[in-house]
Amino acid sequence: MRHPSDLVDTLQRQLGERGVLRAPADLARYTSDWADNRLGMPLAVARPASTAEVAEVVRLCHEHGVCMVPQGGHTGLVAGALPDADGGELVISLERLNRIREIDPINFTMTVDAGCVLDSVKQAAAEHDCDFPLSLGAQGSCQIGGNIATNAGGLNVLRHGMMRQLVLGLEVVLPDGRVWNGLHALHKDNRGYALAQLLLGSEGTLGIVTAAVLKLSPLPDQSRTALLGLPSVEAVVALYGLARRGCSDLLTAFELIPRPCIELAMEATPSLRDPLEAPHPWYVLMEVAACGPVDLGEMVEQLLAQGMEHDLILDGVLAGSEAQSRQLWQFRESMLEGQRRRGEHLRTDISVPISAIPAFVEAASRAVMAASPRCEIIAFGHVGDGNLHFNILPPADMAEADKRPHLHELEERVFTVLDDFGGSLSAEHGIGRTKQAAYLARLSPLERELAEGIKALFDPRGLMNPGRILPPR
Ligand code: FAD
Repeated sequence: MRHPSDLVDTLQRQLGERGVLRAPADLARYTSDWADNRLGMPLAVARPASTAEVAEVVRLCHEHGVCMVPQGGHTGLVAGALPDADGGELVISLERLNRIREIDPINFTMTVDAGCVLDSVKQAAAEHDCDFPLSLGAQGSCQIGGNIATNAGGLNVLRHGMMRQLVLGLEVVLPDGRVWNGLHALHKDNRGYALAQLLLGSEGTLGIVTAAVLKLSPLPDQSRTALLGLPSVEAVVALYGLARRGCSDLLTAFELIPRPCIELAMEATPSLRDPLEAPHPWYVLMEVAACGPVDLGEMVEQLLAQGMEHDLILDGVLAGSEAQSRQLWQFRESMLEGQRRRGEHLRTDISVPISAIPAFVEAASRAVMAASPRCEIIAFGHVGDGNLHFNILPPADMAEADKRPHLHELEERVFTVLDDFGGSLSAEHGIGRTKQAAYLARLSPLERELAEGIKALFDPRGLMNPGRILPPR
């Protein structure tokens, strides 16, 4: 086996100066993520600009026995794209592989390189009167390859599904450097095993996605956004039932927001003003969207009247313009930044059946408060997907060194309650490293055998993103 530095020299010859970074100052921006996690420095960062270059980089790593870390926009929330502390991994950044290859507005598909930033994909689709409906807070930085690798969800899942439902075909460089071309633009294709689906959500452990065929929808030409104040989580779930039925299935978002998040949002963006007269314990940010001759205004007004009649809605505001709608969405976006600014906190990403959300919030809050009465619970999320981010801020005066072990203990308490509800400890962020121990502890021997078998089939030498999802071999 050859020395890893030979590999970097070879890569530099093949990809040129722009294609390989090795100076510590240049590597820094590839070693931390949005949540400020940082583990170690990589051997180097390769920045291939074509599928052929990705394949060559991977082939050489395979030949040298060097481990690889595929990296997109490093906005993932489970530390899966960060290089290890041992300094021996090569980061393969897809940032230069960023071409929109083709848009077909009749077939409602587009083919894009994996390094395209999600926002630019949405914009390119819109220019052809089409919508790529994946929508999430990190869309200005995250890449399509990262969205595929994490099977990202986000705000519009209840109408359009997760990445799994939005991808028709993939091109993938396998861990030995061979290229699998599965770029089919077919809406129906039942030929044997669904290989692309295995790659979706595999968090870079089975291969590097280099391109994808995405499924598009007609671009909505009208939408209505409302921010509503509600008395309880029970009322939120009841209103969701009314909204699903009362809005001709045109509901695109139905977000649960607790009062502390409204305050965190105003802290992070001081220009934001609470649009409701009085504070409420819970809020719903909902949106309906459509194209064609549908009276969305009438539809939403009827729903709000019904909600008030049933004492589900205490107060609310319906955006009268696109600018006002953007302002309401600003609460949802800024509250994440507000939480980040509070420093170390527990971030979870769980799912339960929609009908169980109120009982789960109550039981998990009770379990957490019993152990840590001064912590702050912030439960928000995508009601229509049964997906909550049940986050916990430790007491502000707690010593920094005590926070992590304390939050870890609280996380276990939340997960124990979650087990009673038959829930999932990862609804949309994946396992990465941060959720690995809790995931493995709940995997049956048969599930583990199958998962390890899939990994071994794609990556028998264990070189592709080792230690994420499953432990390294
Ligand atoms: P990275 O973070 O770079 O990588 C994530 C994982 O994918 C890593 O394991 C990496 O190795 C692998 N990977 C990256 N690119 C490739 C590739 N081309 N081939 C193979 N593997 C690859 N997620 C949701 O689902 N819903 C949300 O609503 C949501 N909101 C968010 C809001 C904010 C503010 C932030 C910071 C994150 C949010 N996320 C959300 C997390 C989400 O996982 C990421 O934003 C996104 O999907 C990751 O894309 P990325 O390009 O940044 O990937």
